[in-house]
Amino acid sequence: MRVQGKGVSGGIAIGRLFYLDGMRELLPQYAVADSEAEMQRFLTAKELAAERLNQLCQKALIRVGREQSLIFEFHQMMLEDHKFLGIVEDIIRNQHLNAEYAVNEAARQVSALFHNMDDPYFQARSDDVYDSARTLLDALTGSAPRLMAAAEPVILAAQELMPSETLQLEKENLLGFVINEGSVDSHTSILARTMGIPAVIHLPHLLKNHNGELVIVDGSTGQVIFSPDAQTLRHYQRMQEDYHRYQQLLHTQIGLENVTKDGRRISLLANIGSAEDVAAVLDNDAAGIGLFRSEFIYLGRGSAPEEEEQFAIYRQVVQAMGGKRVVIRTLDIGADKRVAYFPDYQEENPAMGYRAIRICLKEQELFVTQLRAIYRASAFGRVSIMFPMIVSLEEVLAVKALTEQVKQSLRAQGLPFSDQVELGIMIETPAAAMISDLLAKEVDFFSVGTNDLVQYTLAADRLNPKVEEICNSHHPAILRLIRIAADAIHREGKRIGICGEMAADPQMTRAFLEMGIDELSMAPSMILEIRRHLRSLDLSCDDGREQAKRISVGPVPV
Ligand code: PEP
Ligand code: MG
Repeated sequence: MRVQGKGVSGGIAIGRLFYLDGMRELLPQYAVADSEAEMQRFLTAKELAAERLNQLCQKALIRVGREQSLIFEFHQMMLEDHKFLGIVEDIIRNQHLNAEYAVNEAARQVSALFHNMDDPYFQARSDDVYDSARTLLDALTGSAPRLMAAAEPVILAAQELMPSETLQLEKENLLGFVINEGSVDSHTSILARTMGIPAVIHLPHLLKNHNGELVIVDGSTGQVIFSPDAQTLRHYQRMQEDYHRYQQLLHTQIGLENVTKDGRRISLLANIGSAEDVAAVLDNDAAGIGLFRSEFIYLGRGSAPEEEEQFAIYRQVVQAMGGKRVVIRTLDIGADKRVAYFPDYQEENPAMGYRAIRICLKEQELFVTQLRAIYRASAFGRVSIMFPMIVSLEEVLAVKALTEQVKQSLRAQGLPFSDQVELGIMIETPAAAMISDLLAKEVDFFSVGTNDLVQYTLAADRLNPKVEEICNSHHPAILRLIRIAADAIHREGKRIGICGEMAADPQMTRAFLEMGIDELSMAPSMILEIRRHLRSLDLSCDDGREQAKRISVGPVPV
């Protein structure tokens, strides 16, 4: 059976489908020496889960009414259910096993009880038992534990994947993603492109029913084939080989310059989300790291990483890059990137709410810890710091004041750092683009986060598939904003790059070169492709056919 979705990361994957809910059984099971401490860990997690469920319940009450909110009341009741708690306690205290295993096992047993009841109402509650257990498991592990390692390389399927969940994945065991919902610029799609594995979203099909089946995922066309016959399988195996051959061919681009036929140059850098991604950066011959999404270090865990832990990660990345530039973006949580340990901030419009630099400027301890770790890593290579979601000059001045304080305290403590650390700003809001002349007086460089710039300019949520058509990155408003920013920033003698997904859009390469954009930073897997394309361009050639195809910004009315 063939199903058409939307391809968001190219290539062909062939393997068994692994539906996330099928991972319940894969929760770790291990013996604990101190059962009392484990019991205490469980009780703390239970309190946190109860608090979260209460918030959910209140929110549901306001948004969807009493009837719909009852389900969360049921989830809350489950956490206090004697049978459920009895099983958990027995497993932890008497069998000396871990709390995650105990919760999962208790959920399984209680769910089976409900399932076997005659009353259809209780039968339907069988799945809810798992849902409330999941909240507990999330509280126990600081994230969704559903994604523990699969035993063999698989094609991961899910209704939807949150960035915190993707972090739990054993990357080497992932052949591809297939997702029912999702969106092109969601962080899960971005992750697939960073890892260079095929991914298809918007699948109008119950993936749950295909758990364990052999599937083919064509990330370029968006086709997914379930249980292919031998002939189809052979056909796609050949296509997969062709794809690999093409990737090898692209490797002949390694070592070549990023220059057009008429001599225009631009730097190509890579985006990463973890130290593990550095290998792909080096393999694909990037000039450096143009965006390290540092928030991924904060996701999927029970508490914020301490200074030492962050320092070790940044230093590892910086050293591995051996003197090449590494731009570390400070914490950009909020919107779809949520952390379990952070005071819960339920918001109507999270993308436009308390996120990124807004949080950092309020929670200064959190921010200072990160800045200290980054500055300390700067002693080991070439580090730049970039700040996300800027809308005003005041924010930039506040951030700069904090960096000065951090440097002073490091100096006082005798901790080494480089005095060459450059500061940069992301242009992710129309506000930042429109005041870029003012901002350019304060910082060394800029990078346009087109993923957010598109959503904020066109007032269309980048995660909402219903408005995906409106999120058109080629809209003249986007191109004009980038052009306005580029002109203003260059007038101040500063640099501007692009680090949103548009950086790897070959249809935009020429327009970016014409605007004088200094660098493009993209998923490592896209670098050689864009280099090849770039080297085929000739900006001095302007025949009519070329012009008609070209995306042009046109005159900017300011
Ligand atoms: C962007 O907004 O374009 C960007 C690079 O940041 P993120 O995708 O992580 O929001
Ligand atoms: Mg962004």
